[in-house]
Amino acid sequence: MHAGLALLLFSALPACRLVHFLRTRPRCGLCDACGYDLRASKGACPECGDAIAEQPADAGVRS
Ligand SMILES: [Zn+2]
Repeated sequence: MHAGLALLLFSALPACRLVHFLRTRPRCGLCDACGYDLRASKGACPECGDAIAEQPADAGVRS
């Protein structure tokens, strides 16, 4: 029994899940199409022209 191999397998699984989570999580403030930073933009992405989705957090702030 190789303890090192077992340790490697057990440590690799959470790492794969973490990478998957980081790659699939919603990119808040970034363009869905190209990843451009949209925090200073409204309406459409200046980089690729993709429409910017409304941020739910801002819905109740406007007066
Ligand atoms: Zn874009």
